[in-house]
Parts: sequence; structure tokens; C-alpha cells
Amino acid sequence: DTGDFDREVASICPFCGVGCQVSLKIKDEKVKFVEGINGPANEGRLCVKGRFGFDYIHHDHRLTTPLIRRADAPAKGLNVDPGNWQTHFRAASWDEALDAAANGLNAIGGTGVAGFGSAKCSNEEAYLFQKLIRQGFGHNNVDHCTRLCHASSVAALMENVGSGAVTATFNEIENADVAIVIGANPIENHPVAATYFKQFAKRGGKLIVMDPRGQALKRFASHMLQFRPGADVSMLNAIMHVIVAEKLYDQQYIDAYTENWEAEKAHLADFAPEKMTGICGIDAEVLRDVARTFASAKSAMIFWGMGVSQHIHGTDNSRCLISLALMTGQVGRPGAGLHPLRGQNNVQGASDAGLIPMFLPDYQPVGDADVRTTFQEIWQDGGVHPDKGLTVTEILDAVHAGDIRGMYISGENPAMSDPDVDHARAALAKLDHLVVQDIFLTETANFADVILPASAFAEKNGTVTNTNRQVQMGRAALAPPGAAREDWWITVELAKRLGLRWSYSHPRDVFAEMTQVMPSLANITWDRLAAENAVTYPSLSPTDPGQPIVFADGFPRAGGRAKFTPANVIAPDEVPDADYPMILTTGRQLEHWHTGSMTRRSKVLDAVEPEANCSLHPATLRALGAQPGDMIRLTTRRGSIDIMARADRAVAPDMVFVPFAYVEAAANTLTNPAIDPYGKIPEFKFAAVRIEKI
Ligand code: SF4
Repeated sequence: DTGDFDREVASICPFCGVGCQVSLKIKDEKVKFVEGINGPANEGRLCVKGRFGFDYIHHDHRLTTPLIRRADAPAKGLNVDPGNWQTHFRAASWDEALDAAANGLNAIGGTGVAGFGSAKCSNEEAYLFQKLIRQGFGHNNVDHCTRLCHASSVAALMENVGSGAVTATFNEIENADVAIVIGANPIENHPVAATYFKQFAKRGGKLIVMDPRGQALKRFASHMLQFRPGADVSMLNAIMHVIVAEKLYDQQYIDAYTENWEAEKAHLADFAPEKMTGICGIDAEVLRDVARTFASAKSAMIFWGMGVSQHIHGTDNSRCLISLALMTGQVGRPGAGLHPLRGQNNVQGASDAGLIPMFLPDYQPVGDADVRTTFQEIWQDGGVHPDKGLTVTEILDAVHAGDIRGMYISGENPAMSDPDVDHARAALAKLDHLVVQDIFLTETANFADVILPASAFAEKNGTVTNTNRQVQMGRAALAPPGAAREDWWITVELAKRLGLRWSYSHPRDVFAEMTQVMPSLANITWDRLAAENAVTYPSLSPTDPGQPIVFADGFPRAGGRAKFTPANVIAPDEVPDADYPMILTTGRQLEHWHTGSMTRRSKVLDAVEPEANCSLHPATLRALGAQPGDMIRLTTRRGSIDIMARADRAVAPDMVFVPFAYVEAAANTLTNPAIDPYGKIPEFKFAAVRIEKI
């Protein structure tokens, strides 16, 4: 029965970066059901998470009061029952908890403190979080989960294009005749975006899917390149080699808008398809056909996901994709462009808002004295430190080294999301003072000294920015439960206790300040978003809905030119050997979002996918003497998990795929923390693993 409700409130889906607009139907102060509305990214469509994944908001485990660790609590560990937290924590008033949080962090102070902000909070909350760390502690040790998803894509885009955001919205595929989707599984991870990809293929568009795993989009593909894991550069360089050898490149575009072409061209001479086929596993003639198909397109787009970015050569992978688009002139026109598909609902906005250790808001470098002066004039209290801060993975290493002793973590779950998660959990346990702000007693909150109960997205007002650069208005449909409060309010109260003279009384005030320091928000105001729901940046005038395509006339780099950066083939950090003969790769499933803190508390989603599982090729299962449904043990140099096995022909016989949402068989117990030297992103997509039947 979805017939009657008390009121409806327009907001944004809290899960993925597609940013579907939703109408929340409220009955008796609960979300009764959800419908898609006509947002620019979803045109009324929703996936199973957006439609049925909202009831986590009303779960019994919601945090409803501030908590302080009891003096007689057991030693810190992953040992708190969220339904019986009284053994470890005691309830506290907001004043007591905020004082304890601020005093504990202040007592450590300076570079001894670090912050992980949230890509699930609003733009205003992300902005306040980075400002609090920078102003309150005088340095830049602030980061968020972009480090674990698209940091290498952003590094390559910033380096070669001059901007970290997409050059075209995914909806632009409607104007393309060829599209590459590489290292992404949009039917599971960006399902509404995938509907546009499927429609594109159905109307005759050539869809080139490249992925070490087979996937549902394969049914719509003109070409399916199931290449060897970690071999992206060899495959992409071979494709570009053909474009050079057969002179299929766009010399006019290259001359007008790029630099370093001759170096790229010379570099690619070494990557003939016949030479690369043994590395990437794709037949030379297929590589040639893909090269000709892409290069002869009228308009072509490239979409990529974490299969590209989560490697020690993730930045090189993205450099290749950028070079491919540049040499064929496939940027800056309708139906052409580069689009890394963003993960969390606000990972684009959190990055734009400055939750990054090397950049202030709008990717303005902390090392630039003029930039720092601008921020200092507007922020007033104290200066901005000129040195880059530490990244997520470096911060946890610094905790082990004793250099960081206090952390403020909002809406992030490193006890589940970081590579080699036992190392991450040991770091959290070692902290002298950990403040966690969240809606549930997450695995990370298990280690907290102070827990601050925050708001779900349906309980807050604030803007978010999706993968398409669309800034959208989220509206509170419900009050937070019990004493829980909106995240912006909590951060402001902490800042006041750290001696900062902040006086925001509504997210609107924060957004107004953001428009002063973020040129990307020109012509976008809170009132405009309240009236229009979404504006794409850049917006060229107060009435311009925003530009779906950018860089038609050059790039935001010196001389207006994008750059070719050649990439070499680099082996994964840890290759299979006699002890660990198989390849582990990790990712998400349609029903569960990231570390599962929300979706595993949603009745429908948890009912559909209730149990930790991994996927292996049927022949691999047979060789193990196992049946689908049997428990198997996966072991890497970091640790072991026991997990239920599924048969999946899409997985290569030497691979196992493990989703990372399940605490009882945490995939990141196994993953390799080796990082890409540029984007500092861990190699979640490749580790050597041993598999046994138990
Ligand atoms: Fe939500 Fe993403 Fe699904 Fe849209 S596609 S409903 S934003 S999870």
C-alpha cells in the first residue's frame, strides 16, 4: 500500500554519485515509500537502492544520543554490539560530549590530529569539516574516501586537462555514436546511468566494454574486451599505437589544443598489438578493430570506474584514457568527453569543497601564497598552512608511527574501507583520542572515545554534487531521531570549542561563504538551488542551467592546452606465486553500498543479499572440490576470511571477486595497501591470494 502519505519532500538519493532526485513520501514521521522525480541525471528513474533502500533511516541501531567511552570499557577493538553499547559507552549530554571531543583533540593539537570527512555529507558539511581541521589545528591533514576511489583519476585529469571533474555529463551519451566503458560495472554500481548506456546501445551506438570481469552490460556491447587484470596500459597503448600507425588521429585538434604529442607518438611506437596481446590477453585484431571504431566515431565518450583507478598504476591508466580522447579530438563537443563515474553521492562535492590534503576548495593548492591569502581574508581566524597534509592511507601509517594521536572522523568507515584493514583497525585502537560522528555505531565507531550522533540525508538540508557536476538541493523530510543533530551543527559546535569564531546558523550561510572562495559556484546561489533543485557548474549566468560539456575552446592549463603524458606498463605490486597463486579483486554489488553500514540495515536490500559471498569461475570451484554455496577460505599475506562461494562464469578462472560490504568476511582483510605514487590510491583491484575449501 503506497496510496496515502502525510507529505512529500523532494531530495536526493543518499547512495551513488548518479544523484537521482527522489520524492520522499512521509507518513507518521517515517519514510513510507520513495519515487523518482525528474532530475537532470535520472528523469524519474531509480534503482533498487534508491527505491527500496531508505528504511535504514528508521533502524533500531540509529545513534540517538552522544556517547562517551566508559572508564571501565573493555580494550578498544571490534567488539561493541550496536544493540548493547552500554558495555563500552555511556550516554552523555551534547555539551559534555562536545567538550570531551574538543578537549581531547585540543590536548593533542597541531599535526598530531587528522580528520576524515565524509562524501555522504552535504557540500556545506564537507566545507566546514576541512575548514575546522585547517583552522582549528593549523595544518592540512584532512582527506576523505576519494583517496580510495578516484584519487588517481583526479591526479591524471588535473595534470593533463587542468580540472578534476568530468568534461561531459553521462547523459551526453545520447549524442555519441561510440562509447567506451572501462573498469566500471554501471549496471550494479551506477544503475540509472547504465539505463542511458543501454538505450544508447539499443539505438545503434557502439558500446565498447573493457573489464577483467564479464558483466551484464556485455549483452549490450558491440565489443567486450575481458582483459587480464592490471593490464590496462598495455591494452590502451596498443589501441593508441594503431591509431598512430594508421594515422587515424585528429591532427587539427592536436595542433590546436594539446602539447607533448610528439613524445606520446614516439612512446607508442613500442606498443604494437602483437606485442601487447600476450600481456593484456586481447587478440591483436580486436585491438585494431576497437582502435578503428573509436577513432572513426563522430562523437565518442569514455567512462571509467575503480577498475581503472584502484591500481598502483591507476594514474597511468587514466593518463592513457585522456590521451586516447585527446588524440582523436573527443573532448568538448556534444556526445564527446571524459567521465570518471563517481562513487559516493557527494564525492564530487566533497572533493570540490576541499576535503583533500593538498587542495583548498576548488582544487586551489595549499602551496600557493595568493590562494592562502584569499582564504585567510575570508576565514579570518588564523592562516592556512602551506604544506600538503597527509592522505587517508598515510594518516593511518602516521598513527602507527606515533605522529598522529587524535582523529575526527565523520561518516567514514576506515575500519572496513581501508586496505589491510587489520592494520587500519590497529591504528584506530592506538589513537589517544578518536571522535566519530555518524548515524550508526559503525565498525570505526567501535574504537571511538566520543561518538556524536548525526543525521541521515533525509534529515538534513544541504547541497550535493553528483558525477555530472550537478549541484542539487537536498531537503530535510524528517527530524533526526532522539538527540541526533545535523552534521554541520556538530562541526560548528566543535569549532567554537576549539576557539574559532564561527557564526553559521544554517547551511545557507555556509553555501554563501563557499561561493566567495569557489569560482566553480559562480551564478549558483542557495535560493536558486531551492527554486530549481539543480544547477550544473559551470553556470554562465544567473539563468543558465549550467554547461553539460566543458573545454570546447581549450583547457584550464597554461596556454589552454591539454597534455599527453605517456604511460609505461607496470606490473601489479603483488603478483601471484606458488604460495598465493590466484588473483583477488574487490568491489561492490547492486544491493549493498560500500561498507554496508546503511544497506545492510535496509530490510529489502539485506533480504535480497543477506550473506557474505565471493564469486569464482565454475571450473575453479570444481578444481577446489567445492560446490556453489560452500564455504571457502581466502588467504593473502595480510590475513584470511571464510566466505560463501558462488559460481560465476564472468570471473576468469584465475580470479576471485569479493564485495567489501560484509564485516563478517571483510574483503579488506585481504587487500594490498601498496599505493599509486601520484594519486596515493591503494591497489584494491589486485592481490595474490590462496583459495582453499574448508
Ligand atoms: Fe540512488 Fe544511484 Fe540508484 Fe540513483 S542510481 S537511485 S543515485 S543508488
